[in-house]
Amino acid sequence: MVGENYDARKLGSGGRSWSNWAGHQSCRPRDFIRVGGVGELSEIVGEAGAAGRQITTVGSGHSFTPTALSDDLLLDISHIAGVISADRETGLVEVGAGTILADLNCELDHLGLAMPNLGDIDRQTIAGAVSTGTHGTGRALPNISAQIEKARVMGADGEIREFESGSDELLATRVAIGSLGVLVSVTLRTVPAFNLHRIDAPMDLDEVMAEFDRLTEENEHFEFFVFPYTRTALTLTRNRTDKPLAPRSAADRFLGDVVLENGLGDIALRLTGRFRSSIPKMARYSTAFMSQSEQIDLSHRVFANYRTIRFNEMEYALPAESGPEALDRVLALIESETFPLAMPIECRVSAGDDALISQAHGRPTVYIAVHQHRSMEHEPYFRAIEGIFREYDGRPHWGKLHYRSAKDLAPSFPRWADFQGVRDKLDPQRTFSNAYVTKVLGA
Ligand SMILES: Cc1cc2nc3c(=O)[nH]c(=O)nc-3n(C[C@H](O)[C@H](O)[C@H](O)COP(=O)(O)OP(=O)(O)OC[C@H]3O[C@@H](n4cnc5c(N)ncnc54)[C@H](O)[C@@H]3O)c2cc1C
Repeated sequence: MVGENYDARKLGSGGRSWSNWAGHQSCRPRDFIRVGGVGELSEIVGEAGAAGRQITTVGSGHSFTPTALSDDLLLDISHIAGVISADRETGLVEVGAGTILADLNCELDHLGLAMPNLGDIDRQTIAGAVSTGTHGTGRALPNISAQIEKARVMGADGEIREFESGSDELLATRVAIGSLGVLVSVTLRTVPAFNLHRIDAPMDLDEVMAEFDRLTEENEHFEFFVFPYTRTALTLTRNRTDKPLAPRSAADRFLGDVVLENGLGDIALRLTGRFRSSIPKMARYSTAFMSQSEQIDLSHRVFANYRTIRFNEMEYALPAESGPEALDRVLALIESETFPLAMPIECRVSAGDDALISQAHGRPTVYIAVHQHRSMEHEPYFRAIEGIFREYDGRPHWGKLHYRSAKDLAPSFPRWADFQGVRDKLDPQRTFSNAYVTKVLGA
């Protein structure tokens, strides 16, 4: 029986619970196994598949949705990690699916290579990141999964299948929420290493909205944060540069990110949660203290931030042209209903892509994300805001909270039926489904 043979690696069975980064999603799987390598993975998956069990693979647990939960067999493949092969000429690099992005970035850097774009933290695994459509910001740049040229995926029979660029199997596998099998490795198209000049600066929100097209056009990576109840945005621009490095010192990072942003921010948010009427005042204070800062560093160091305040998040992908109007409506809703949302809203952009159920499938995209401290209630507010996003044919980030299900999601994705065709072919027994997969992709 699976589990009995792998006691040494078993993280728990029938007793040990697992929970995600934010702490709101937890499960108690029948077996929770950290797999030692690909051979062992094949044995475990083959045996569990033949026994009709349901298998879920977990990455770093940084999804806010119940996407990595299991009440049956939960696999941790963090030992299947690291660069497997690299071709500096073409930039093609094969990596184990359990590789943490921070480690991937360091390994690529040693090879003189880099990922062209990344999200705002680097704690996720590459498999977890691509599976939910994780993205950074940049009008000309698609999400991380679009860098995948080839993927090796293990099916319920314990066999590995390789999917190449141009096939529907790869287009489905790139963003699949774990539903098609266990990703074993991915071959990424990387770029020569580069440095970024980052400027964080406060700007009038109305000006940001009016100039949004220009700002996203002129800057390789543009995003902004805005606190409800204020009209000041914190803009973040990041552009390639050949100027000498001017990294933030460790002390600056520690003081800025860890102590001020996270430590004091955490206390402030907890207090604000208790005294809800103080939220608008807190927001105004926060924006009053915003100032301009700059940094020039290796791209991956500029992309990644420390995030230690634990929160819940919902993020929707909207057609690019509807971004400013939708954001205005979200701010108006929050302000009119005195929503106790004490964290800023984040606005990013990306190019469209062709992964079958990517949030940015086939359209240039604006992402709008709302956050709530994990000690504060989020659901009624997220539901109300989701109502606005749905009016613009918004698509939810698969790893961030939303309240949608397969029936109403299908019409939003032009190639939904093709994805389901690949799913029927690769996982006809639904070995790789869990409650979340069944809810959002159907039985
Ligand atoms: C602080 C914070 C910041 C974030 N910033 C961003 C951001 O900037 N941009 C953005 O888009 N998202 C962001 N996210 C969301 C995050 O990137 C995604 O939720 C991502 O999926 C998490 O990766 P993970 O490794 O933790 O995977 P998990 O959350 O553990 O799993 C995610 C999915 O991947 C599947 N999976 C994992 N490994 C495998 C495998 N080997 N084979 C098949 N399926 C697998 C799981 O079953 C699950 O469906 C952020 C989240 C947090 C908590």
